[in-house]
Amino acid sequence: MLNQQSIQTRSVHGGEKRVKAGHAITTPIFQTSTYTFENSGDLVGYMEAKLWGEEVDREEYGRYGNPTVAAAESKLADLDGAEAACLFSSGMAAITSTLLTLLSAGSHVIMTDDCYRRTRGFVTKFLKRYGVEATQVPMGDYEALEAAIQPNTKLILSESPTNPYLRIADIPRIVDIARRHKLRTIIDSTFASPINQRPLEFGVDFVIHSATKYLGGHNDLLAGVVTGSGYMIAAIKETQAMLGDVSDPHTAYLLIRGLKTLALRVGQQNRTGLAIAQFLESHPLVRNVCYPGLDSHPDYAIARSQMDAFGGVISFTLHTDFAGTGKFIDKLTIPYIGPSLGGVESLIEQVACMSYYELSTEERLEIGIEDTLIRLAVGIEDTDDLIADLSQALAVLFDKALISVENRALVAV
Ligand code: PLP
Repeated sequence: MLNQQSIQTRSVHGGEKRVKAGHAITTPIFQTSTYTFENSGDLVGYMEAKLWGEEVDREEYGRYGNPTVAAAESKLADLDGAEAACLFSSGMAAITSTLLTLLSAGSHVIMTDDCYRRTRGFVTKFLKRYGVEATQVPMGDYEALEAAIQPNTKLILSESPTNPYLRIADIPRIVDIARRHKLRTIIDSTFASPINQRPLEFGVDFVIHSATKYLGGHNDLLAGVVTGSGYMIAAIKETQAMLGDVSDPHTAYLLIRGLKTLALRVGQQNRTGLAIAQFLESHPLVRNVCYPGLDSHPDYAIARSQMDAFGGVISFTLHTDFAGTGKFIDKLTIPYIGPSLGGVESLIEQVACMSYYELSTEERLEIGIEDTLIRLAVGIEDTDDLIADLSQALAVLFDKALISVENRALVAV
């Protein structure tokens, strides 16, 4: 039976045993690579139980399981409202192992065109070498998505919210299309976390998170998780047993510790995210703001219908150029320049410099990445301090030299 307590209480207690080893209040780090048997009878009893599919409350070898990892997995399953979860060494490991479990030579997969670039690369380049076909459809075009279905299509993969424009997939609509065509669905819900969105409640088959982001929440670990039905997660664990992309117990411990404050952290990030989005939208030197909690966002109505709140990532463009954007970022005193999101420290990046630096301005524009596009991932610092910091850094753009000719009129505002 699913836990009926609030997600805040479940963040603290969910998934963990009430009485833990040594009566510790925390789930201990089981720093071990293997597990021993008292005698040969004990070993045979264990093997027989496994053979008959019985629940066995012990482990055998580190690549197949670890009690600290298992506690993190049950907490994550609880938060997503899933029967089971499988923890991985990174978000990419969760994505690649899940796709390798579900697809085989001759399969076809449909993905939205703004998925994380490493996910797209894995599907369109790596899996292609093993005979998997893929079609990318424009995010938000559900007619194109349905039209892309082929007799060999096995699954639909989307993120929501997406990076960097924070588009929101219409999850019930994707599930409806998938069910009519007997396809499986995966939603990468990294940018939402279970606090803001629980896609399994809408009938999605698998939810993936890069636990490196909100779930870990302290910019100090790499992990990934897939949640779903017990039967399918068991199949994914079989793949993991072969690929070996397991999470180690120390990381699982840090993840459990991070998850205890998930609701508090994400609550603060939601409030700051919305306040900063509103502040930026009203600022004369900000050209465009993307935040699903603003009614100017193209997916605002969908976001309101399937999310509880909208997260701590805001993308925006400025009335300046490539160099002016860098000057603005360099003036900030609170956010660090760096990739990632969801941690307690705010992070900021000029998108053109970070993930698309090898492309020319024209090539970047073709894929919708403007030179002045900035992604701000807020941490848990005070909202007003962050707004004051952005405000003083934006003032640098009032220097006429940093404003493009056509936008100089704005300086008079
Ligand atoms: N999914 C999304 C949406 C991401 O943004 C990322 C990383 O940035 C990943 C998956 C991969 O996660 P990780 O870096 O933990 O491998």
